[in-house]
Amino acid sequence: MSKENEKEFNLTPGENERYKPVKADLTCPKCGKTHTLTLRACVNVSLHPEEKAQVLDGSFFQYKCPDCGESIAVTYPCLYDDMGKALMIYLLPDETEVALAKLNAQQEKWSDDMMKAAKVCTMRAVRSINELCEKIKIADADLDDRYVEITKAFVFAQFLRQQPDFLAAQVLYDRQDGEDGLVIMGKDGKTLWVVWPEGLYDEVINMFGDRVESEKSTAYELIDANWTMKILGSKS
Ligand SMILES: [Zn+2]
Repeated sequence: MSKENEKEFNLTPGENERYKPVKADLTCPKCGKTHTLTLRACVNVSLHPEEKAQVLDGSFFQYKCPDCGESIAVTYPCLYDDMGKALMIYLLPDETEVALAKLNAQQEKWSDDMMKAAKVCTMRAVRSINELCEKIKIADADLDDRYVEITKAFVFAQFLRQQPDFLAAQVLYDRQDGEDGLVIMGKDGKTLWVVWPEGLYDEVINMFGDRVESEKSTAYELIDANWTMKILGSKS
């Protein structure tokens, strides 16, 4: 995945502009010139299926400087909407928790149709493009990201018992050659692939199903390692 440059632009979409293109000024980190970008605040892959691949390979969030050609990763609040999979994922890269609280507070103003959609959709918030791609891959694998997160915690804990000195920067679900597993990225840039033990995911559903389903919500949720700690902490 591309490096994310220091965000040198202001992005202040109005209340009703969330789905409209948003203008933002970006200063190129290489040549220093400033350009006004048109950012799209929503990716609708039901209407534009080709954009899913662009999100997954990172190109959707890449901007090419017209002066020097530098490729710049631009992350900003953006809704990934896949109606076919009833999946809505909000990328909230800055002050994610605060942005998420604001976003969910707007639910009071949602239309009845939006509320109906919220009841059937999986609604998630993510902090980064990597996490957005992970959620898309989990849905493509027909897995439930809540149980995937819990499974990740067990597999990663086991991994750390074997490699206690490994400093992980990020741990992401992936499916490679038909097998589910974790991509573990080290702080030193090293990336490892760890396959899940057979049957563990189903075991996690059996163990935590009741607990997880009791947390069901119609708001956008951060289902991440912190959420998993909360679930695991309350189980014992
Ligand atoms: Zn430039």
